[in-house]
Amino acid sequence: MPRVKQASKQKRTTKAATVKVLGAAGLGLSLASSASASTMPAAGIPQPDNTSPNQRFILGEEEMADVRRKHEYYGTRGVPTEVLDAAALKKLEPNLRDGMAGGLLVPEDAVLYPPCGARFLIERAQKHGAEIHVGISVQRMGACRVTLTNGREIAGDRIVNAGGAWASELTPGVEINKRKGHLVITDRYPGFLRHQLVELGYLKSAHSVTSDSVAFNVQPRRSGQILIGSSRQYGAEHKEVDHEILRRMLQRAQEYMPGLGPLSAVRSWTGFRAATPDKLPLIGPWPADESLFLATGHEGLGITTSLATARILVDQITGAQAEIPIEPYLPVRMHKDVVSTISD
Ligand SMILES: Cc1cc2nc3c(=O)[nH]c(=O)nc-3n(C[C@H](O)[C@H](O)[C@H](O)COP(=O)(O)OP(=O)(O)OC[C@H]3O[C@@H](n4cnc5c(N)ncnc54)[C@H](O)[C@@H]3O)c2cc1C
Repeated sequence: MPRVKQASKQKRTTKAATVKVLGAAGLGLSLASSASASTMPAAGIPQPDNTSPNQRFILGEEEMADVRRKHEYYGTRGVPTEVLDAAALKKLEPNLRDGMAGGLLVPEDAVLYPPCGARFLIERAQKHGAEIHVGISVQRMGACRVTLTNGREIAGDRIVNAGGAWASELTPGVEINKRKGHLVITDRYPGFLRHQLVELGYLKSAHSVTSDSVAFNVQPRRSGQILIGSSRQYGAEHKEVDHEILRRMLQRAQEYMPGLGPLSAVRSWTGFRAATPDKLPLIGPWPADESLFLATGHEGLGITTSLATARILVDQITGAQAEIPIEPYLPVRMHKDVVSTISD
């Protein structure tokens, strides 16, 4: 398991804005061999806490079927993907464990370093006249007015609550649950990992809303560092690292990439995803206040979907024809629930 060193001594920054990682590819993976259960290289590999080797074999069969389904799904939407067999997968990512059944290669996928993306967008907004206030909290917002904790008031015809997992503190009635996640970043190991790798079971664990879960998800940074994720926890409101869930997460990562074990980690930290009850983001006008729009509730996809979110908001605020169907994301669905609960 990677040893976590002190961040202050080891932390380094990357310069990349958007990192297209060696062919800009993402891979979805199927853990178990599809040949037979006996080909599972189970010895020496830590087992997940709650699955037996047989369950994992069944999961592998399911996952390979998922690989083919996803390949077809992406194909009908013009996104190129490639189904990989075990040998092709091993060639692309030699540090993956032996015995993998295969994977799905998404050649146009890319890894973004979010702080650089945010800085790029802020600088562009400033060129268009945006004023940025940092280090000051918003006390309240609504009715064409934002009040900061230093007492300053900012007036505006349109206000967007993009408070992430804290959005409901500013707009009562918006139901957002905090979903805690852990991440680990390693020291620099250039060439160890070439693509973002995601366990296909990640989607299943991401959609579970009742139990804590971990799944294998690693991303290479251009610096050679490896970002290891990830976990999902409900009802954990404190931001401290939970060592038991971190242990499970790293164990899961080593099941897929045993070579991660001896690597040094330089930092581990947590964050909160903003989860909505129906698992869809809230983008658009808040019916109780004509001046207020929401852009929150993106759970684990808010970076990927940030530009599409902005597009949807801009279209709604300017009254332009929507480029993306907006109905599933409109906050009115949550407002209806609130109104009907009150009147019941
Ligand atoms: C472990 C983990 C892994 C993830 N991996 C991915 C990934 O691989 N891909 C992906 O697309 N997404 C990922 N996400 C999700 C992604 O980080 C979020 O979806 C995204 O950050 C949401 O953006 P946001 O701007 O809506 O909210 P946030 O990024 O949470 O920003 C909200 C901001 O509002 C500020 N704020 C709140 N209240 C106030 C207030 N009263 N006054 C002033 N400021 C306030 C907060 O401080 C915060 O800075 C991950 C999340 C976690 C936790």
